[in-house]
Amino acid sequence: MSNSTDGVKIGLEVHCQLTSLNTKMFCNCSADYRGKPPNTLLCNICAGLPGSLPVLNKRALEAAIKIGLAINCKISKKSNFFRKNYFYPDSPKNYQITQYDKAGGIAIANEGYVETNLGGVRITRIQMEEDPGKLQYEGSITTSSNTLIDYNRAGISLVEIVTEPDIVSPKHAREFLNTIQSIVEAIGECDSKLDGSMRADANVSISNGRRVEVKNISSFKEVERALNFEITRQKTIQAASKMETRHWDDVRRVTVTLRVKEDEEGYRYFPDPDLPPMNISDDYIEQLKNSLPELPEKRFIRFTNDIKLPGEIARILIKNKVVADYFEESLKYENNPKLISSWIATDIMGYLNRNNINFIDLSIDAKSLATLAKSVSDSQINEYTAKSILLKSISSNEHIDDLLKSEINNSTTSENLLEIIEKVLDDNSKAVADVKNDPQAIHFLIGQVMKATHGRADHSKVKELIEKQLK
Ligand SMILES: [Zn+2]
Repeated sequence: MSNSTDGVKIGLEVHCQLTSLNTKMFCNCSADYRGKPPNTLLCNICAGLPGSLPVLNKRALEAAIKIGLAINCKISKKSNFFRKNYFYPDSPKNYQITQYDKAGGIAIANEGYVETNLGGVRITRIQMEEDPGKLQYEGSITTSSNTLIDYNRAGISLVEIVTEPDIVSPKHAREFLNTIQSIVEAIGECDSKLDGSMRADANVSISNGRRVEVKNISSFKEVERALNFEITRQKTIQAASKMETRHWDDVRRVTVTLRVKEDEEGYRYFPDPDLPPMNISDDYIEQLKNSLPELPEKRFIRFTNDIKLPGEIARILIKNKVVADYFEESLKYENNPKLISSWIATDIMGYLNRNNINFIDLSIDAKSLATLAKSVSDSQINEYTAKSILLKSISSNEHIDDLLKSEINNSTTSENLLEIIEKVLDDNSKAVADVKNDPQAIHFLIGQVMKATHGRADHSKVKELIEKQLK
């Protein structure tokens, strides 16, 4: 674990929507709420009408256990749901169905551990809960004169991952979130690209100050920003003197007091009488454990040990399952991991990041990338030309195969390469004479040929042909 130099302690609560589910957590309403007209995905159950009875979505339990196993938690064989009572317009029921770790409450998973590049973080627990509805403000929460409510999101399945205060810097927090993201993506239960599917609340305290909670942080970049702001704020006004909850205003980039923290009793937690306790068998847990795919950290080890990728390249690839899968798919067609991984991690990802494009929208399929790599291995084109074809294909959407074909057609055929070489040798008789005394002088001649072919000729082939000619 990395050392904190200034007594900063950060704990996170990460909400991951289980986006792999088709229906909400306790009813049959569609979970595909994004972009739907407001308040159209609602039934008696998720609207909390009297007499309606929730029934747990089996897939939500399955997904929560899988996430728990993936971050090294102990899965509870007995677990239950509580009502967290609060009066706020985002909850049509005036309570949220969630889990609780006191008063006989047992969360689905406890005591886990996640390793990150900047140090490990202990996981306190994972609890299952339903998402509340969505409040919409004109402008920002602090300036809007009215609030609109959309309940389509109410009842969507979530897991909340709660950490111990092991995080020592805003950067560490972001690294932890990236790691969690790569894990839930690898399992396929949370698609973090969907807007609002991963959100975080953060607890920050410095040295002996009281804990301050920053809520409603919508992206990882914002988490880092909000924490940096809050740490500076706490340091300059002295350590916070009261426990409070602050809202991150990502428009103004400041935290503002939302409320001085209510204690947990304020929520009057009690077991939900409509949902019987869950009994989870060892067999079921074992079955889910066996169904887990290879997790990012394991993949990293395989990429660096077995495929011999440099650590920093492997780190980039494993962060996103889609990217790592794409890399491995390419290798099936052409086993050149060094070249292919470097193209993906630097050229392709670089281009996509600069242009804000998702990897899944990449126009080049894995097989075509492999074909390009093969044309380098076969000395049809050199690496320099291959890279320019690659970049041209990404930016123009022209197919690699077509670009490659026309490049090979246009490029110097063996016959006219020989002609060019002969001409270069004729024109540079002094250099030709030099090579007899100093073999290094051949590089000048190679350079002249490369220049004459506009860099298209294969370097080692040119060298071979010049040597032949000189003999
Ligand atoms: Zn419903």
